[in-house]
Amino acid sequence: RTVYVNGEFLPEEQAKVSVFDRGFLFADGVYEVTSVLGGKLIDFAGHTKRLDRSLKELGMEMPLTEDELLGIHRHLVEENGIEDGLVYLQITRGAADRDFAYPEAGTPQTVVLFTQAKPGLADSPQAERGIRVITIPDERWGRRDIKTVQLLYPSMGKMMAKAEGADDAWMVEDDCVTEGTSNNAYIVKNGTIVTRHLGTEILHGITRSAVLRFAREAQMKVEERAFTPDEAKEADEAFITSASSFVMPVVQIDEATLGDGTPGPVARRLREIYLEESRKAAV
Ligand code: PLP
Repeated sequence: RTVYVNGEFLPEEQAKVSVFDRGFLFADGVYEVTSVLGGKLIDFAGHTKRLDRSLKELGMEMPLTEDELLGIHRHLVEENGIEDGLVYLQITRGAADRDFAYPEAGTPQTVVLFTQAKPGLADSPQAERGIRVITIPDERWGRRDIKTVQLLYPSMGKMMAKAEGADDAWMVEDDCVTEGTSNNAYIVKNGTIVTRHLGTEILHGITRSAVLRFAREAQMKVEERAFTPDEAKEADEAFITSASSFVMPVVQIDEATLGDGTPGPVARRLREIYLEESRKAAV
């Protein structure tokens, strides 16, 4: 596989990052994941915009222009023959002597991109079955709106879910669901779609923003507000969204089975609309 590191395209075995990289020592870095369908990038502009925001929030520069970023993404997709899959991008504050204080201005940032092939990404059998989630306390830091590489608690959450035979975990704070380990969470009751409002408590999902726009355009009712795990367990249906899962139905939350235990009509319809519209707009 060919990867990109600091201006160079290299075979993955030759790509190197310093042991002093602040991404490695302090999780001092941000990332983006953009999906690829039919060899094209889904919502590239949205991911670039959020990357820009994450960097600004941490006082980091955007080291490349949007055109340069697009060129690197496209080169990797082509070079690695990716039909369906993902492009991962990470930017850290670079390598410097280990010190909590940031290195001096001008320290070169580390920029890494690689691809992951995922044949059949859009026709996952999971989407036909729906997934099971458990609820766990949200023990992450307070700036979840910044897409940092600090992902240990979400990893632990995923393992807690696996240990219970579930697919993912919904995190709960002050008796309200924040989001999934790597996705935004939704419930549907009497035809109304409910998902948590934006704030520092959740990541502002690029897929979330597109899905809510499509839902409103299709005259579906949307409420952006917090909901409790109890409300979720009594919902008619539920689903999650993310760049890699698109719209994924949820059929069980802890011990509660939703509806008849199969993906609900709203989640199915939104998945269809999202895939159709985002393929059309892919670059
Ligand atoms: N919430 C969290 C915590 C995430 O890590 C992610 C994606 O990685 C999302 C939500 C979904 O965001 P997006 O739709 O931009 O992939």
